[in-house]
Amino acid sequence: MKKSETLNRRDAMKFFGIAGVGILACGNNEAKAETKLSMPSSKKHARIVIAGGGTAGMVAAARIRRAAPNAKIILIAPNTQHLYQPGQLFVAAGLSNPEQNIRKTSDLLPNNVTWLQDKVMAFDPENNILETEKSGKILYDILIVALGTEYDWSRIEGLERSMIGREGIASVYDNDTLKGEADAGVKSRKVFTQMQEEARKRHIEFLCTEPNTPIKGVGTTLSILLLYSDRLKREGLTKRVRFTFSKADETLFPSNIFQKQLWQEIDKYNNIRTAYGFNLTAIDIARKKAIYETSEGKKELSYDFIHIVPPMQACKVLASSPLAIKEGKEKGWMLVNSKTLQHPKYQNVFGIGDILGDTSGKSGGAVQHQGIILQDNITAALEEKPLPYNYDGYTLAPIITTEGKILLAEYNKQKPLPTFPLNPMISRHLWWWIQKDVMPRAYFDVLLRGMM
Ligand SMILES: Cc1cc2nc3c(=O)[nH]c(=O)nc-3n(C[C@H](O)[C@H](O)[C@H](O)COP(=O)(O)OP(=O)(O)OC[C@H]3O[C@@H](n4cnc5c(N)ncnc54)[C@H](O)[C@@H]3O)c2cc1C
Repeated sequence: MKKSETLNRRDAMKFFGIAGVGILACGNNEAKAETKLSMPSSKKHARIVIAGGGTAGMVAAARIRRAAPNAKIILIAPNTQHLYQPGQLFVAAGLSNPEQNIRKTSDLLPNNVTWLQDKVMAFDPENNILETEKSGKILYDILIVALGTEYDWSRIEGLERSMIGREGIASVYDNDTLKGEADAGVKSRKVFTQMQEEARKRHIEFLCTEPNTPIKGVGTTLSILLLYSDRLKREGLTKRVRFTFSKADETLFPSNIFQKQLWQEIDKYNNIRTAYGFNLTAIDIARKKAIYETSEGKKELSYDFIHIVPPMQACKVLASSPLAIKEGKEKGWMLVNSKTLQHPKYQNVFGIGDILGDTSGKSGGAVQHQGIILQDNITAALEEKPLPYNYDGYTLAPIITTEGKILLAEYNKQKPLPTFPLNPMISRHLWWWIQKDVMPRAYFDVLLRGMM
């Protein structure tokens, strides 16, 4: 690619002005410099099918549309509405409205991309075909899989989705991306408000749980814990609520260096404890008990209010296909070369987003970074050239540490990858403002248009 055909980070920031600060802060790539906003680079005619119209599917559609102007692009997405999922946290906190987080799929679709409002039912990569629910078999030259995660509430005995928002049970995750519906924020808000009101009267046990599966939105539970600890502290109610963060794994946060900082944030409140190795398997609504599998057998924790992150898996249609990882911890998630995002056996198949196996954290920030790599690698594949770019495993987790401040954890498995020359261990109002006020619009108007 010629130098004149790309915008580097500095150009992009000038271009986006102040909004660019937010945009780039919320999911950038290689630690310094090399951000590329590629221009068209393959004139080849090809049939490119994108499975899934969430964050990753939309980013892929916008980017590939620009990069391969002669390609026929088909996006298969069942949802007429599209959710900005991180917004649910702010809805639950009473800081934003649900409507801010939803747009019509038809309004987001890039020009000249055909939308098949349908569901993928099976993959047949040997024959370059996928099967859909209503439109039958779809042939492709290149396939991009962007089907995200699926929740499996059934792994928590005694819990039904309909209970969320009632019985002291919250989950900002409880949205239906297949339908594009979101009421998790509103339902959770009700529970959190009730918790605050009750704390004015009596002692409360507030439990937050995370499952033994990979999850998206790492940092969401910590944000809830720290935000509500802060709110209660401001009311002088710190001692009224004991927060317990029960986790199936043994660490607070996937990146060690941020973990140390987060412990310091937690210790400031003096009312948050952790229960590691606790995997939530059942809930007894009548007795208000959370029931766990631990290495020492079954254990119970009492709660008055509980926030649950559901167990997650790759959707069954992918997990049962030849495109999935067949064994080990990542079984069922999509197999790709974690650098090029190409399937190692079916080389005309690429993956992006939460559906991927062992690549990085599952976040919109990771999708933003992967989108750039995917665009350039697919145009190279169309030109039958070696794939030029490698994904470095970047992901991000914005964590509310106090009302009005966020710690922006940007990292990969090896190290922090801060976008700006600012100390990443400091919580800042700037990140709060970006996440709360800038991102909900920048997500739809810039990220999903492949502009960042
Ligand atoms: C509460 C919460 C907070 C979060 N906070 C942050 C944050 O602060 N920062 C951040 O960067 N990320 C955050 N995330 C994560 C971020 O939203 C996801 O990582 C991102 O949306 C992943 O995009 P995706 O396209 O892979 O998955 P999704 O956006 O979930 O899209 C998957 C799509 O696949 C579709 N689909 C599923 N099955 C089929 C099928 N059979 N056929 C066709 N289509 C199908 C679904 O309808 C869905 O639209 C958060 C997520 C949640 C839930």
